Amino acid sequence: MDKFPWWNETQKKLADEVEAFADQYYPDAEEAAWRKQTPWKVLNAVKEKGWFGALIPKRYGGMREELAITGACIINEGISRLGVVGTIYGGSQFGGVHQIETFGTDEQRERWLPAMATGEKIGAICITEPPVGSDAAAVATEAKLEGDYYIINGKKRFTTGLGIADIYMLYARTSQDPKDRAANRHLTAFIVEKGMKGFTVEKINELCGGDGLLNGYLNLDEVKVPVGNRLAGEGDGWTIMMSGLNVERTIASSQLLGQMKESIRFAHFHSQRRVQFDQPTMLAQTNQFKIADMIMRLKTCTLLVYYAAHLLDIGGGGPYGPVIEATAAKLMTSESYVWTSANAMQVMGGDGWTRFYPVEAAYRASKVTEIAAGTSEVMRMILYRLGTRLMENEIKPPRRVIHPELKVPLDYFDKVPDSEKMKITEESVLQVLAENYRVNPGLYMSREDLLMYLKGTEEELDEVLMELEEKKLAVLSRDRRGVIKLRMPPTPALRKPTR
Ligand SMILES: Cc1cc2nc3c(=O)[nH]c(=O)nc-3n(C[C@H](O)[C@H](O)[C@H](O)COP(=O)(O)OP(=O)(O)OC[C@H]3O[C@@H](n4cnc5c(N)ncnc54)[C@H](O)[C@@H]3O)c2cc1C
Repeated sequence: MDKFPWWNETQKKLADEVEAFADQYYPDAEEAAWRKQTPWKVLNAVKEKGWFGALIPKRYGGMREELAITGACIINEGISRLGVVGTIYGGSQFGGVHQIETFGTDEQRERWLPAMATGEKIGAICITEPPVGSDAAAVATEAKLEGDYYIINGKKRFTTGLGIADIYMLYARTSQDPKDRAANRHLTAFIVEKGMKGFTVEKINELCGGDGLLNGYLNLDEVKVPVGNRLAGEGDGWTIMMSGLNVERTIASSQLLGQMKESIRFAHFHSQRRVQFDQPTMLAQTNQFKIADMIMRLKTCTLLVYYAAHLLDIGGGGPYGPVIEATAAKLMTSESYVWTSANAMQVMGGDGWTRFYPVEAAYRASKVTEIAAGTSEVMRMILYRLGTRLMENEIKPPRRVIHPELKVPLDYFDKVPDSEKMKITEESVLQVLAENYRVNPGLYMSREDLLMYLKGTEEELDEVLMELEEKKLAVLSRDRRGVIKLRMPPTPALRKPTR
């Protein structure tokens, strides 16, 4: 396992320890997968190591001070070589431990964390519902306050670890007010515990991969949950969910690193020993290149994952935490895992497609990583929307000016001095719009673009633009609320002398 220079000594030692652990328990995990059983023998050994307490402070029986998110990722990278052991381990970290540790009161931490640190109690996360998937804010499960209890009704689905988990980190709607919905204050986070009356497993899913993993539907029928099981305040659910998702995506990505390595291991092992055309298939450069690309992807993903983990550990990453880094890590590792397992199978030929080598299980398991914890499309939506917003300064628009001799646009990033700005008039606006046509033909100008060259308020500008629109000298574009967004002169205005 790679060890990064910023890791502490405990984390570096842990990397060796967890690799040796995975080597030792590999056949046990394979046996459980063949039997389609929860790998309890291996999970119990993970518990004995105390690794379930990676995110839990010492005072509650954990090792957070030495291990933290980076440590949880090291553990998960190592034990994910052991089939679904990593999935269950990761699910517990971001299905309760992180949220209780970060948002719980001292009393709540005292109540749940010691048993989660030893692994006696395992956590699970409940966001998804039959009608609610990618649009997580649409959670419909309802919690109504009645005295000292919330009464929760609804259904959750695709919950990983259901049945074996004891602590369910569950999000429910506590407000139907559209204003709360608009402000993302409509959700509340609860710890729902196994055994609460009305909280039952409805159905277990038959999965394409993840042999031995329990995943399915949960039913909540008038479940009485004490107010003391609410994390933070009413309406704080969305903030908690988002914070949890950065941790979930980082830890879940670390899991894929171990699984990618198994694909590389078996592709390499097989192709060195398989002889065709009188030479090992490894000598075929097409196979070498595939393995080279697997290593390139693995190394890139490893850096991304541990950088995101480091940012989480130091509280870095900007106003929303390391959301870009965690999202990029999730997207890159899941797509690389799908690619790596498919290509490892290709390198191994028919053998790769049989169940007698672990690559087949990796191939089946890989696909879901582009779906669970947010689909690749949702990751791209986040990266586009938030990424472009957070990188606003780094990708600020250029001011394009025609070079007097070359007659081609050059790009400037300075500001037009106020003394050179023109007063807002019909003539000056048309002049700026016509100049824009020369440097960006076909592109509209935004209000901000225009005000780079003009002196005055947005209202003054809008007034002049509407006058020009009426005279058919400008084309305006408006958003859904009717606010003027972009404007461009129609072709006739371009023929009007502007200077
Ligand atoms: C094995 C497994 C384990 C899981 N574990 C858990 C768990 O422990 N806890 C939990 O809460 N959930 C869990 N999930 C649920 C998982 O997070 C969701 O499946 C995922 O968020 C996608 O939701 P969906 O399946 O309803 O797909 P949908 O939201 O219905 O999406 C279907 C397709 O449409 C695309 N799509 C949707 N909207 C848009 C849009 N606006 N723009 C572009 N594309 C769009 C999606 O990307 C996807 O490709 C698990 C799922 C699986 C399969």
